Amino acid sequence: MDFQTIRKLDGEYLAATYARYPVALVGGKNATLVDSEGKQYIDFGAGIAVNIFGANDEQWKAAVIEQLGKIQHVSNYYYAEPQVRLAQMLCERTGAKRVFFSNSGGEANECALKAARKYSFMKYGEGRSRIVSLKNSFHGRTLFTLTATGQDEFHRYFSPFVPEVAYAAPDMEEVVRAADGRACAVIIECVQGESGVNALPKAIVQALSHWCSENDVLLICDEVQCGNGRCGTLYAYEQYGITPDIVTTAKGLAGGLPIGACLFFERAENAFSAGDHGSTFGGNPVSCAAACNVIGRLTPEFLLEVQGKAAYLRAKLKNFDGVRAVTGLGMMIGLELEKDAKQVAAACLERGLLVLTAHSRLRIVPPLTISKTEMDEGLSILKEVLA
Ligand SMILES: *Cc1c(COP(=O)(O)O)cnc(C)c1O
Repeated sequence: MDFQTIRKLDGEYLAATYARYPVALVGGKNATLVDSEGKQYIDFGAGIAVNIFGANDEQWKAAVIEQLGKIQHVSNYYYAEPQVRLAQMLCERTGAKRVFFSNSGGEANECALKAARKYSFMKYGEGRSRIVSLKNSFHGRTLFTLTATGQDEFHRYFSPFVPEVAYAAPDMEEVVRAADGRACAVIIECVQGESGVNALPKAIVQALSHWCSENDVLLICDEVQCGNGRCGTLYAYEQYGITPDIVTTAKGLAGGLPIGACLFFERAENAFSAGDHGSTFGGNPVSCAAACNVIGRLTPEFLLEVQGKAAYLRAKLKNFDGVRAVTGLGMMIGLELEKDAKQVAAACLERGLLVLTAHSRLRIVPPLTISKTEMDEGLSILKEVLA
């Protein structure tokens, strides 16, 4: 199908939820993608921090195809080896005790929020169901996670919302006031993605962690975007010197197939029992086999390379004309610009570079395997557009 046909049919048959760029991507290799008209792009977006190993990665493909050759889906009424392999890997790498698998970031957070309410209910009974979430956070599109998203613009039209969710700035006094003695959990993104790629200050995250453990309030780290090597460590919280009670992740975990994971650490380990939560597709064997390949390859050596690439990109970007600030952590990069970010993203696309925006910022989240040549090509296009 040529692009005009795709665009026409999209406009006719798909729910009008997306403001799309005028491109249909059809293939590629690593961080070099191709559209339906044969035009090439350097990929600084990775499908929103999803395609960890870029497009068409040989090892990842082999892991997926191997599982497809066995079975594509099994019900959670039965045991499944790819699930236990992945859960064991995640627990051994993080110190988590148990994992629940779902299909998306929103679902992983939904699971975490439900588990926090149950944990508190079993221990303290009613009246402690409040979730404290940070202003400018993003946690998903289900009604509970949308409620927990601390941005008013997402809250139009969809009321009534889930009760007992309160918002606070990343400030201890505000958090304690929002908790009001009846919170079961605080949910944070160590690096806020959708609201502009802001890394939370280390001091506040540590203070939060301390306050949570003193008050038996569960600390949930939403690592849907900043996890899975994105920030230069397997999970971003590692760089904050804390141990959360629950970690949620998704986007990059399976390198491009749908998956979500909710990791329970010691305090929250037994929050759920049989029948409390479930998912038909959750823990899909193909997604889990893909994720085993991803986690298995995010070795300390690989993560060091990611840190090196991040430092390289950041050093270059900092010196570009038109860049006011470089934010975020590792390969999760925000750019505060003099020009309008949306217009910059459109101009980049025109010249063959895919970048994302996050609020008023440009967002750069390339495949972690991006080559030096691809980085340089992308950087030179961006430099031209920003000048
Ligand atoms: C993308 C994202 C989500 C939602 O993930 P979906 O897979 O779209 O449901 C939740 N939290 C954060 C931090 C995200 O970046």
